This record gives sequence, C-alpha cells and structure tokens, in this order.
Amino acid sequence: MSSRLKLPLLWALLLFAPMTPAASGSPHIIEFRSDLWPGATVREAPLRTVHFYTTGAEALKDDCLKQSSNEVAAFYGNAAGGLKFGARCGTLFVLVHDTLHPTMSDAARRFIGVHETFHIAAQIWGGPAPSVLIYGVRPKVSPRADKFFADLANALNSRAGKGDLQVDVDIAREYQSLSPDDRATVDYFSALEWPAEYYAFKAMASERPDWNMKSYLAVREEIGNEPSYRAAVAAGLELDGRLGSGTWEERVFKGDSMFTLLARLGSVNLDKVDLIQVTDYPLSF
Ligand SMILES: [Zn+2]
Repeated sequence: MSSRLKLPLLWALLLFAPMTPAASGSPHIIEFRSDLWPGATVREAPLRTVHFYTTGAEALKDDCLKQSSNEVAAFYGNAAGGLKFGARCGTLFVLVHDTLHPTMSDAARRFIGVHETFHIAAQIWGGPAPSVLIYGVRPKVSPRADKFFADLANALNSRAGKGDLQVDVDIAREYQSLSPDDRATVDYFSALEWPAEYYAFKAMASERPDWNMKSYLAVREEIGNEPSYRAAVAAGLELDGRLGSGTWEERVFKGDSMFTLLARLGSVNLDKVDLIQVTDYPLSF
C-alpha cells in the first residue's frame, strides 16, 4: 500500500508539541537538537530546521510555503483541523491548526512546536521510527489504560528516581494485567509519543532557565492534560535518574520503548518495538 495513502492518518496523530525560542529570533523556526537525544539523527543537516506555524496567515508569509499556497490554504481552511508535516526548500515544516487551542500561551505553542519537531526530524526524517508512526492507527485510550498512565506517572513522580524495586515490579505487573488492547495502547504511546514529549520537556528546559515540572504541567494542562503524555516526563526523569542521562536514549532508536526500559528495571522483558527506516515518506508541499 502506498504510504501516501497513510498521510491523513499521520495528521490525525495530533502529537502535541513543544516550543523553543529560535536561535534566529523567529518564534517559528525550531532547530532539532540531537545533543538532547543521543542516538537521534536527521538524514540531511539542513532539515534540522523546522518551521512551525499555527495559522494560515503566518504560514503564507513563508517564502517556501507561498509556492504551495493553495495546499496551505486548504489545510488551514479545513475545519477538521489537525496537523500537517511537509518539506520544501530543504526545510521541514509543521503546520498545526491554531483553532484547536486559540488562546494557548506562547510557552504552550512553543512546546507543541518542539514536540512535533522530534516527530518529523528525529523519527520521520531520521529514524528508524516506530512502524506505528507510518502504518499504525492511533488507539483510543480506554479508561483502564488512562488509569494505568496516571498510576505510572504518580508512582514515578513520588519516588523520583530513587529506585524502589517494589514499584518497578508493581508497574510491570500492572502492565501485564492489562488487556491486549490496553497493552497495545501503552506500547503505542511509549514508543511514539513519550520520546517526543520528553525531548520537548528537555528542550524547553535548555531554553528557559525557569522551566521546571510545574511549568510543564501548566503547559500540558493548556494543550490537553492526558496522563498518556504526562507519564512520558515521569518516565524520562526516572530513566535519567536510574540509568543516567545520555545512557539510554539511543536505545529508543534500536527497538526499546521508554516503557520497555522501565519494565526491565523491574526484571520484566517485553518485546522490542517494530521499527521502520523511513526512506520515502511523502512530506507534502
Ligand atoms: Zn506527538
């Protein structure tokens, strides 16, 4: 099946993203920071730069996007909203419908941009990416899976990397008690979304001296306060605390999800993530 046919699915992913004051000074230009995620690469260096727009008026001021003005206008004119990834003039683009969160703060807007930058630069244009990014269907999070994510975030936040082995075992056992569908939901988020979310958390911290967990939770509340995303930051901080920052991130590009790394701390070995090297993904523009 042509991957082009799958593009609308990707838009529907609606990965909530990050923000980073651009080195250039433009709030719309975000550099992918491979130093923040060891093992993450992008295929071509110029494509580390992501232009991020939340309104059609902003997007159509971009000289590259002007050339695709009909496509850009159609995207922003579509009431369904969503997200669109593209590439043009050697630059990656992320378009996000501002209508989803019209009153969101600059910090929340930036967070979304940075989060999406990880998806497009590190996973799609770098990779390998979890195959669910290209071929999967975003799962609907059941109440049981939602509770699992919330329990996980609470358990990890309460011990903050101190390595309570009983908590490790409890987390792994709770996961194993889930239905196959709920386990698949956890797998999906921990492989695809958690790295983008934790990357965005770290990127924001690198840009903003006052950025902390409270800032993150405020931004997450604005965007959508799903435990499935919040658990990502708790998991990332836990892995940093237990394994050391810079020691585990590249394994995410070798088939471990952040959750499988956590579960292994509880002596539970889970299956590797199905990865795919994206080589011809049609980034439309
Ligand atoms: Zn996302």
